[in-house]
Amino acid sequence: MIAKKTYQEEYKDALLPYIKERRLSEGKKVGKSTIETDWRDMFYLERNVENTDFLSWFESKEKLSEAKEKVKDLIYNSSAKKVKPDDRIPSYCRLLDYFYDFYNNIEDSYLEIDLSKLALNFVKFTEYVRCRDNNPDEYINFRDCSGILGNEEGYKSRIVEEARRELRVDEWTEAWIGSGKIGRCAYKAVLKSSNLVFKQQKYTFKNIISPAREEFNAKAESILYDIFKGKDDKKAFNDAIACFGAKYDLIAFLFFIKDDSRFLPISPDNFDKSFEKLGLSFKTSRRCSWSNYIQFIDIISRIRNFMNDQDVIHTDARLIDAHSFVWIIHEENFRNWEKQECEESLIEQKTEEIIIKPIEGKGGKHASKSVVYSRSQEVVKAVRERAKGVCQLCNNPAPFRDKNGQPYLEAHHIVWLSKGGKDSTSNAVALCPNCHKKMHIVDDARDVQKLLSVVK
Ligand SMILES: [Zn+2]
Ligand SMILES: [Zn+2]
Repeated sequence: MIAKKTYQEEYKDALLPYIKERRLSEGKKVGKSTIETDWRDMFYLERNVENTDFLSWFESKEKLSEAKEKVKDLIYNSSAKKVKPDDRIPSYCRLLDYFYDFYNNIEDSYLEIDLSKLALNFVKFTEYVRCRDNNPDEYINFRDCSGILGNEEGYKSRIVEEARRELRVDEWTEAWIGSGKIGRCAYKAVLKSSNLVFKQQKYTFKNIISPAREEFNAKAESILYDIFKGKDDKKAFNDAIACFGAKYDLIAFLFFIKDDSRFLPISPDNFDKSFEKLGLSFKTSRRCSWSNYIQFIDIISRIRNFMNDQDVIHTDARLIDAHSFVWIIHEENFRNWEKQECEESLIEQKTEEIIIKPIEGKGGKHASKSVVYSRSQEVVKAVRERAKGVCQLCNNPAPFRDKNGQPYLEAHHIVWLSKGGKDSTSNAVALCPNCHKKMHIVDDARDVQKLLSVVK
């Protein structure tokens, strides 16, 4: 878990580059003077909103909402006349929207990953890989060089090696700072990034480290030096934003080649789409900041833990493998396969198997496991207890007892998870294996009705 920073800290760290990035995305100038105008507007606003301690707005989401309302009042009521010039007022609103957006994002990122959506997408992903590779093997192997994972995703590990060769960090000394050598090495490394860094950001980087601009070059090189040789990652990340701009792909890539066991590349728009599929409201687009990056990595590493708990993963998945999984589920090819080829009934049953997998028996390999499974496990347990050893469709006793002497029944989701059904006791029943199979093959409307009446 990430230590939660105070809002003031977040504010100082992250807002400036955020404003920069927003201005860029709106096609506006991001020069020093324009940024300063935004800041001046902000402080001008502070002075004109009565009884408002500027920084205290950022203590909580509620206070920020309040501040927003106050500003609206200020603008639309008589007191607004005191605020001059009028043409500045819309920019206050815009700024508050930035902040609101930004802080909302910080809070929402503490949400749990929706386990049923994660399981569903993971099962689809494994089926998709098998389908594309035409491989009946049950196991998914990220280390295999052939097949879709090797061909389309494996290049990321190769890039790390190639980029590091260009970087030659071992040879760097402090005396290199300002010589242009560090910049040249770093640029060559970034050129190896393939699609992991957006083209535009590569050009920007080239301009920044251009030896023609000596002074800036020295500053950029000292930041690069800190990224690769320094100890304070957070400071180096923030300095990089201040120097290179909020170039999320670029900065994340530098950290990724620094240490691919701790850091990841990012493609914000695409990951936002995948997170949406996983039921996460976490956004990375236009939110380049250290805290956002750390949260992004935390989410991917929780997904990796989940993956490593599944039997179908052949060799433990690395952080970059979980990254590949999350990446693939937003891709067009995957989405087409999902619409046209995937066998929904099979996916659904496999998803239920993943969710009901017991916590015990796997050893304490991953600390976050109990967190990941707890909700679904509770549902399974509650549903079995409620059934009292009798199948809720055919009303026959469970056909046999499990190793613990408990009547064997399987949990089934009446409205399938893939159709938006909830992973809760109001949508789940306990069935004998026969009836369970029947529900997945026939899903007869009368049976569904019967089961729905049972859980009422
Ligand atoms: Zn039955
Ligand atoms: Zn089922």
